Amino acid sequence: MLVDSHCHLKDSRYGKSPFEIAEESKSEGVSLFINIATSLEDSSESSKICSDIPYVYGTVGIYPHSDLGESNDVLLYGLEKIIDGNPKIVGVGECGIDISDHTPKREMEEQTKLFEMQVELAVKKGLPVIIHNRNGDDSVLEIISRYKNQELKAVAHCFSSGWDVAQKFLDLGVYLSFSGMITYPSREDLREVVAKVPDDMFLLETDSPWLPPQGHRGELNYPKYVKIVAEKVSQVKEKPYLTVASLSTTNACRLFNINL
Ligand SMILES: [Zn+2]
Repeated sequence: MLVDSHCHLKDSRYGKSPFEIAEESKSEGVSLFINIATSLEDSSESSKICSDIPYVYGTVGIYPHSDLGESNDVLLYGLEKIIDGNPKIVGVGECGIDISDHTPKREMEEQTKLFEMQVELAVKKGLPVIIHNRNGDDSVLEIISRYKNQELKAVAHCFSSGWDVAQKFLDLGVYLSFSGMITYPSREDLREVVAKVPDDMFLLETDSPWLPPQGHRGELNYPKYVKIVAEKVSQVKEKPYLTVASLSTTNACRLFNINL
């Protein structure tokens, strides 16, 4: 059994419902999904999806460049209300730091504030944070390190930095989640991280419909392709596929507090 620990099941480009996308993944052994939210509206949608589909869990969260113009207090109030209303909400995110040419964008100071408030919400609710980090290693590590003694649980989603940064996240107790990027020929640096990460500290994800694995680049990504990520981890770690499947499932269920 595999878990896609980070996917976006609702996307108009699929031309299919979240249920259809999830169901078709079962043929590849993917039978548990964490549907990740990126805005307040998407958080409500995420709550609805996981209420509708028994084997889908969800998160609530505001991506660094979502809901521009809305006050942080309104956003955080909205997220908390959804968490309180649905026990299948198992995390806060994706949230974090995104230093890119995204337009329209939230400036760095505002991104930092919004991220801190979501981390605080996660701590208050005892939920893990799903960290989005694009070119923001130092800022993310600095913010996360402040909550180290408050039993913060977190995962660095779609981990894409090198082993030096990986060690810093691991030292803070942050899980690393590997996506289809580990299959890209140019990402030898990521495969080094895969080889070295402790068996109890990694998750697998697709980030569907984004970031398709090698062989499907230029196409939409699907949760069923988490199998391709698992196969690559198996190869790099020189461990049987079923061992990798079992470890990553156990790790995801521990982080998200899901009892199978
Ligand atoms: Zn995502």
